[in-house]
Amino acid sequence: MKSSKTVFVDCNDTVIAVRYANRGEEAPDGFRAFERDGQWYHVKARPSAAAFLSVLADEECDIVILTGGHSRMQHLILNFGKLGRLYDDLIGADNRDAVALPEKWVLVDDLQGGSTSFEEKLSMLGISKKTLGEAKYKALVERHCIQCVAFKGGEDSEPLTGLLDSVKAKLAAQ
Ligand SMILES: [Mg+2]
Repeated sequence: MKSSKTVFVDCNDTVIAVRYANRGEEAPDGFRAFERDGQWYHVKARPSAAAFLSVLADEECDIVILTGGHSRMQHLILNFGKLGRLYDDLIGADNRDAVALPEKWVLVDDLQGGSTSFEEKLSMLGISKKTLGEAKYKALVERHCIQCVAFKGGEDSEPLTGLLDSVKAKLAAQ
C-alpha cells in the first residue's frame, strides 16, 4: 500500500452491475456478456465508476475493492467492465485475511447499516457490532461509511462522483 488513506469500494451494484444470464441470452443495452465455468454473466460498469476511482487515485488514496464474492471472479468481472486497472487491491471472501486497516479509511457501499451483507463487509475489516457495542458501531459507521445508490445497469442517476466531496471530508476528519 502506498498511502495512509484507503477507500474501500464495494463491487457489485456499486461500481458495476452484474447479472446471471442464460447461454445465448442477448445482453441488455450497454452490458457485455462473458462465460465462466459454464455460467454466463452480463456486466455493465457504472458510468461514473472510472472517473470516481481515478479522482481518488489522484488524491493519493489506495483503492481496495471489498466484496463478499470470490476474488478471482470479481477481478474477472471488473476486467470485463474495463475497471480492472483502476484499483490497487481486491479483497474477497477467500482472501479476507489480507486486509489491513490504514490510519484513514472510508467504505463506499450500496448497502448500509442494518443489512447483514454490510455487517459482513465490516467484519472483513475486523469490525464487529458485538465487540464494539451498538453506540460505538453506529459512530464508526457514521465516521467511515458512505452509502451510494445501487446501480443495476439503468441510468446512473446518482453518480459516484457526487460522493467525492463526502469521501474527502470523511478522510480529512479522521
Ligand atoms: Mg453491493
